[in-house]
Amino acid sequence: MVKDVLRRAVGVSFAAILLLNSVACTSYSEPVEPVPTSIPLVTETPEDGPLVLSAVGEPSEADFSLTMLDVGQGLSILVQADGEYLLYDGGARGASSYVVAYLQQHDVTELAWLVASHYDEDHISGLVGVLHTTPVEQALMPDYTTDTQIYQSLQNVLGEKSVPVFYPEQGDVFSLGNAEIQIVGPKNYDYASDNNNSICLRIEYGDFRCLLTGDAEQEAEQDMVASRQDLPCDLYVVGHHGSSSSTTEELLEVASPRYAFLSVGASNSYEHPTEQTMTALQQHGIALYRTDKQGEITVYSDGETCWFSTSPCEDWTPGSQTAPNTPLATVPPQSARYVLNTHTMKFHYPECPSVDQMSEKNKAFTDASREELVTRGYTACGQCKP
Ligand SMILES: [Zn+2]
Ligand SMILES: [Zn+2]
Repeated sequence: MVKDVLRRAVGVSFAAILLLNSVACTSYSEPVEPVPTSIPLVTETPEDGPLVLSAVGEPSEADFSLTMLDVGQGLSILVQADGEYLLYDGGARGASSYVVAYLQQHDVTELAWLVASHYDEDHISGLVGVLHTTPVEQALMPDYTTDTQIYQSLQNVLGEKSVPVFYPEQGDVFSLGNAEIQIVGPKNYDYASDNNNSICLRIEYGDFRCLLTGDAEQEAEQDMVASRQDLPCDLYVVGHHGSSSSTTEELLEVASPRYAFLSVGASNSYEHPTEQTMTALQQHGIALYRTDKQGEITVYSDGETCWFSTSPCEDWTPGSQTAPNTPLATVPPQSARYVLNTHTMKFHYPECPSVDQMSEKNKAFTDASREELVTRGYTACGQCKP
């Protein structure tokens, strides 16, 4: 219907009409005057560029919205479809009260779905706070276990609140209002790295499609592509905070997004996002929105078009090692007192069996004291109990 109106209104070319098959979006920055109808106005129709539409209405008119909360280094995404809510991850411990406050301020009195992508602290800490304060109808959890305290807290509160937990499999489909939520990954939960066990969702609301892959890395991305999952999307939530281990060329080719949301902490010690990822997104002509530069970001959709709370970020600067804390002194493996996992922020004795399973890029050796590690935010491994 809207497509017909567009064709008559501006006589856009057949090619431009075809572009509408993937949703055409625009940015909305200031609250706009309510428009008499929800028909988008075409402001510009470049010959072979994307169709640019003007703002189509206020956020409240949207039947669907997806907000990337600004949780710093971590991830938390609130999806709303026809008044039902899904929360995908809740950020790290420091972000927990902000996530809870955000839900309360936006009158989210109940979550239809609570999803933990995987059990890393920067994804599930905030979920514990949310479970304590907001009724949750059902939860989707990845089907693996881990020995962290925060994982235990999550299990405890799910039990206390008697939340039904589902461990989804690739190909499962759930609904949220009129949105369809497809589980596109992981292929299985047998990956050695927890990141690769991330639950990956493709959310479809009318013609508008979003892809969320948590911290899934190369191996899991390639398996999703190889297993012919439905990956094409309009909006891609950049995997693993823009790490170079994610957002592979294979995934971008198939997913072919026009917009990307990136959740990353300013001056984080991982140097996320990486130059490699920034370049890949740029080369694919994807408009980027990032929390470290722009704070919370929302995309709205009525199922035909979409629009944003702000303009794309023109700043493609990768993360650099200008972390507020000077890095811990690292020492050669043989003289190390402890081994750090810089991703899970745990420390282990060098002989701990989990050290062997740690991926090399997350591993660091240190002779720092236990106290210093604790002040730096590290927690002791529950297995070797250093
Ligand atoms: Zn993460
Ligand atoms: Zn992770």
